Amino acid sequence: MSGVRISPPRPITGVGPIAASAPIIPLLISDFTVIDCLRSIKPPSRKRIAIHITPSAQRHIRGGHPWLFDKSITKQSHDGAPGDLAVVYDQKKKFLAVGIYDPLSPLRVRLLQHRKPVEINREWFIEKVRSAEDIRKPITATDTNGFRLIHGENDSLPGLVADLYAGTLVVKIYTAAWVPHLADVLFALTETVDVERIVLRMSRICCERPEFLYGLKNGQLLYGPPIDEAVVFRENGLLFEADPVNGQKTGFFLDQRENRARVEKLSLGKNVLNVFSYTGGFSLYAARGGAKSVTCLDSSKQAIAGSKRNFKLNSDNARITACAHTYITDDAFKTMQQLAMDKKIYDIVIIDPPSFAKKQKETVSALKAYSKLVALGLGVLRKGGILVMASCSAHISADDFFRTVFTSVQSAGRKLVEIDRSGHAPDHPITFPEGSYLKCLFAKG
Ligand code: SAH
Repeated sequence: MSGVRISPPRPITGVGPIAASAPIIPLLISDFTVIDCLRSIKPPSRKRIAIHITPSAQRHIRGGHPWLFDKSITKQSHDGAPGDLAVVYDQKKKFLAVGIYDPLSPLRVRLLQHRKPVEINREWFIEKVRSAEDIRKPITATDTNGFRLIHGENDSLPGLVADLYAGTLVVKIYTAAWVPHLADVLFALTETVDVERIVLRMSRICCERPEFLYGLKNGQLLYGPPIDEAVVFRENGLLFEADPVNGQKTGFFLDQRENRARVEKLSLGKNVLNVFSYTGGFSLYAARGGAKSVTCLDSSKQAIAGSKRNFKLNSDNARITACAHTYITDDAFKTMQQLAMDKKIYDIVIIDPPSFAKKQKETVSALKAYSKLVALGLGVLRKGGILVMASCSAHISADDFFRTVFTSVQSAGRKLVEIDRSGHAPDHPITFPEGSYLKCLFAKG
């Protein structure tokens, strides 16, 4: 199986100096394409920004919190560019943390290292990537070569994720502050992980400030051979495709791996409705688990087309071919209502919607939407059937989510018994409260 392996430090030859870290080490291997704009990126300033902060922010940062907001800054030596390093001190001028500065965001400093002053250089990045890779080793033993290698703040690289799909690594940055460090990060990744190509994805906010991107584009191939089609990877022995360039997130929803595997175990002989199915992740597991039928429902044409291809990719599995699959490309709310009116009933209803609360002020409407979805789900769930209800909204707490689900069940006059509640897969470790976003309930009615 291809995947991640630690390689011994290897000599890198090729394209010459890119970033500021001294000594300058050429970046990438010569037989790969390296885009020119990486070479033109201005390195972070050698002059670190000194920052003093409020007592309450000091408490948080002493506790290892990775974020410093602008409103917590009481004094600052000078302004800086995105990616300059900022050192945070307490009132006794004692070092608290060092991080990357972002003048474009109220999240002003994303902290890389707490407590101990350290040089942020390629060696530091290599150490972080190696320890992240170490945590993921058990996953590669499960016939899986698609997983999250770097989970942002939780792996000490706030605002940066790296997902591996077989040999394709997709690096996604959520702030332009990563741009001046990109060469070092790529160096560390290629030192640690066996990759064939690297694709860059950038958040919407990041793309909105092209003046800090040096010509980098969302979906850009950073190195390796061009992608003709989507890449194919294995998850628990199932084949899936991911589209690292145009797909949602980095191409696939890796965070639901464990919940998909739970669904497989429950599916024998069942009729399954997979709402917000994207490319059919849950559906394939249900089919392999022996489901009689699976219906994928998603409003995205591309997602449904991806589900069809994923079923085809796994057609050598007898259970998957035997499972009747149906696809509906439409709005989930409207369709579930229609299915209920048509008296369609399923043994398992999976509801895994997109994030409804991207901002704090959207929490009330998000909870209403979850409540509505539960009611709609129950409308098509056989008595004694299983509801799988997920939320990936970071601003909705687990307590609020589960309470909302059960209140909605009660209002519908139904009874559900909880079988399981789960959160993040092990390649999505959580080290601070705001990092926890995924909630999933398995309940039997
Ligand atoms: N369960 C999936 C991930 C779901 S992501 C998996 O395991 O891979 C959320 C999905 O909801 C996306 O595919 C998006 O296209 C779809 N979506 C968003 N709004 C929708 C709506 N109103 N009706 C139906 N699908 C919707």
